[in-house]
Amino acid sequence: MSEMVVIDGAAASPGIGDGPAFVIRLEEPEIPDLDDPHGAFIAAAATASSQLTELASSADSAGLEEAGEILRAQAMMADDPMLADEVKAALAAGLDLGDAIDGAANQIAESLRNAGSDYLAERAADVGEIAKRIRFAVAGVTPAGLDDLAERAVVVARSLTAADTAGMNPELVAGFVTEEGGPTGHVAVIARALGIPAAVAVPGATDAVATGEGVIVDGSRGRAVFRPDDTTRAEYTARATAHEEQLAAAQLYRGQGVSFGTRAMKVAANVGGPDDIQVAAAEGADGVGLFRTEFLFLDADEPPSEEKQVAAYRQALERFSDPVVIRTFDIGGDKPAPYLKLEVEENPFLGVRGMRLYEGQWDLAVSQARALLRAATSGELWVMAPMVATVADAATMRDLFSGAALALDAEGLEHGKVKLGVMVEVPSAALNAAALAKYVDFFSIGTNDLTQYTLAVDRTSAPLAGYLDAAEPSVLKLCAMTAKAGSQHGLSVSVCGEAASDPGLALLFAAMGMDKLSVTAPAVNLIKKTIAEADAAAMDPVLEACLSAGSAGEVRTLLDRTLTS
Ligand code: PEP
Ligand code: MG
Repeated sequence: MSEMVVIDGAAASPGIGDGPAFVIRLEEPEIPDLDDPHGAFIAAAATASSQLTELASSADSAGLEEAGEILRAQAMMADDPMLADEVKAALAAGLDLGDAIDGAANQIAESLRNAGSDYLAERAADVGEIAKRIRFAVAGVTPAGLDDLAERAVVVARSLTAADTAGMNPELVAGFVTEEGGPTGHVAVIARALGIPAAVAVPGATDAVATGEGVIVDGSRGRAVFRPDDTTRAEYTARATAHEEQLAAAQLYRGQGVSFGTRAMKVAANVGGPDDIQVAAAEGADGVGLFRTEFLFLDADEPPSEEKQVAAYRQALERFSDPVVIRTFDIGGDKPAPYLKLEVEENPFLGVRGMRLYEGQWDLAVSQARALLRAATSGELWVMAPMVATVADAATMRDLFSGAALALDAEGLEHGKVKLGVMVEVPSAALNAAALAKYVDFFSIGTNDLTQYTLAVDRTSAPLAGYLDAAEPSVLKLCAMTAKAGSQHGLSVSVCGEAASDPGLALLFAAMGMDKLSVTAPAVNLIKKTIAEADAAAMDPVLEACLSAGSAGEVRTLLDRTLTS
């Protein structure tokens, strides 16, 4: 047996998974010589389409709605006459069927990539997947996927698509290790939703191990250990047991208020739609610290009406007595809304994203402000803007809401009061937090974007995913600066980025003086437990050491030591 190998990638879903490897390597089948290649293509496209529709239904019944939607879109694309016409033309030009399918798919993918929308550009990757499925169908072969898993295993693959994960039985997946994908990619989202540990962007993973050999995936670190030796396995088994015991013990904190030392700390939940609100309420979250409203605006043919928005916001407010923090729409970057016909930009994350979009879409921004003010009669509503970079941005937000309130008054429509805040997710906002504090009622730090902008690494980049760690001292310094400026001005300061769900970083944020952490709903009680059981005074020197550390690695070593002491 060969040696143990440890490869680091990016953390995508926390926890430790251990099991035999199930390596997915899709060898392309031979396409036979055919008398009627176009007829064979039409039949294969229909087969592929029905396979995808079936996978969509399995995804739906496994509760993977997002995957289901992607698969349904792929099923329609497989059957698209445009693809059939392109294949026909390529065959007429003398290509064999395999090349004709590839050529047609490339052409369609190219036009999607150039259509000026990130959403359509993402569909370009789907076209490649569909072409592959059709080539398999022509050869009469069903692609090997996770539905072939017969025993519990750690899945190791170059990349995994929605189709790959849809047919799987999550009970049989001990973890995911992929070579591609970033911490916010498809596998990461699915893995987190199912509580399966995952490491992505692990280079050379599929060559490092064979099916059946042992793998440990450390999803909290983004590390894969292939063929672990006995000592390493014992170490990880102990850590996995401790993690599970902690999760179970955390349930004691459900619905309880917690303090960090003598200071009360709220642990709220992040929600992205109605289902998350149910989970957050069931976990006993102290309100909602980040309600992402994009689900109302994206994947739609038209903007949501004011009434639809009022109903959605009220639904959240009625569930919680603690504040519900709703973020105004954060469209742009990797989140396009097709009906807005946004300009194509070279670097969309540095472009017209978040509140930078409002000036050009003022009516839409006003409709959301009106809906929020009207819903505010149903609870304690705080509203915050994404991508605030300057004091002028914060002032724009104030004008938006004061204008909307005046208009509602003039129309005699009932509305409530809201606290207005900003997300601190652009380094300039953190650096100038003291000035911003005069314009707003609260700060909420978005570590996901703050990390991408501080390190100048696109958060969707797989090759650079290793840079994206909120434990980088540069990012922590900006967080500490924001907390200090906020508390000097009497503002509530919270963290709502993914980093708040990490127990070690949560302690650092508490030590910085934050009064609230907003975390992924399944982590609410683990974070409450971590905060409540911490020795607050002992965290001051740890914070100091972390802020003067040289790297995220050093910070994590310090935090691990603190958590296990
Ligand atoms: C963040 O950037 O940290 C954040 C919470 O917002 P989003 O992930 O929606 O950009
Ligand atoms: Mg953000």
